[in-house]
Amino acid sequence: MTAIRLDAVSKTYDGHYAAVNEVSLDVAAGEFMVLLGPSGCGKTTLLRMIAGLEDVSAGELWFGRTKATDLPPKERGVALVFQNGALYPNRTARQNIMFPLLMAGEDAAEASAKAGGLAKVLRIDAALDRLPRTLSGGQRQRVAIGRAIVRRPRIFLMDEPLSNLDATMRTELRQEIGAMARDLNVTTVYVTHDQIEALTLADRITVMRDGRIEDVGTPDQVFNDPATAFSAGFLGSPRINLMSASVRVTAHHRVSLDFGSQSISLPPIDRRSMILSNHDGGRVIVGARSDAFTVAADGDASEHLSGRLRALEFHGHQWIAFVECGVDMLNPDFVGVVPTRRAPTLGGRNRHAAPHVPMIKKRMSAL
Ligand code: ATP
Repeated sequence: MTAIRLDAVSKTYDGHYAAVNEVSLDVAAGEFMVLLGPSGCGKTTLLRMIAGLEDVSAGELWFGRTKATDLPPKERGVALVFQNGALYPNRTARQNIMFPLLMAGEDAAEASAKAGGLAKVLRIDAALDRLPRTLSGGQRQRVAIGRAIVRRPRIFLMDEPLSNLDATMRTELRQEIGAMARDLNVTTVYVTHDQIEALTLADRITVMRDGRIEDVGTPDQVFNDPATAFSAGFLGSPRINLMSASVRVTAHHRVSLDFGSQSISLPPIDRRSMILSNHDGGRVIVGARSDAFTVAADGDASEHLSGRLRALEFHGHQWIAFVECGVDMLNPDFVGVVPTRRAPTLGGRNRHAAPHVPMIKKRMSAL
């Protein structure tokens, strides 16, 4: 069942600037949907329209069978958590979490028990009787999340709830948010620009850019089968390598990709060949992730591009290799990763460019 339906929803400021531009999206009941994209792409505006904190300029918003476009925020059954969930300073963590239940007329003992149950999931049960000022940033954010979710909203919205926490706290709370979402099975829309949060938490990710949707899919689909070059480039670290090539299908139905100074031919029984055979004579953008890369003195030139190692960076568990291929790339170098144990092949402890050796070959991984 669809819990939230956005139908060509737009938000314009000053009558012309479209912060959100004809966005259509369905979020299923119980789904954890992550809105991912760079700063200013319209994620927060979209979330605020769902919450009713921002008017919808055009299009329609539906919650199940209820038209919600003009529904007052209080009638939406929506709970929202921001970067810094504000708490009542003179109430303990437990009292903060219980508060919405007491306001709704619930019995105090029952409300306290519910707060205790949630605190276990969020791992703040030991801190329940403390005041907010005695809690860490991560604990305060857990209390804010608990307070937002305790009334079991129809829809739970979170806007970068981890962005003000340090790295360790962020990882911990991310796991708790994931556990809570699975336990409570509440429909959630979660805004972030952090790809790890998106990949680890989402049932599906919506990638946004300039007020529009670029891509929607499961983390696996968006990572391995991105809909656009932008989406491919937004996920993955180091960044995916994007290259421009023309497609040729030979008499024997072999597909070859011509990169200008180099070309490769793909194996005949191959998913990539099947997709590319529809593009004979056309130009395509080819994506290769940084692990589609091997170091070798030479290689099968027909199936790999090769290039000259320009620079190496030591990153502890791996080396990052910057390679000049002389092909038409959307980023300046091909960036590859090499496990640390392979480093001797790259010239021992030399962390800088090795201008003459070695040759690099790399495999195409994604299209
Ligand atoms: P961030 O990750 O930085 O919060 P975002 O993807 O959430 O970015 P929004 O906050 O939704 O982006 O902003 C989308 C665009 O709309 C931005 O260009 C922003 O400057 C603009 N915008 C947001 N609120 C207003 C406003 N009240 N008046 C005018 N423009 C606005």
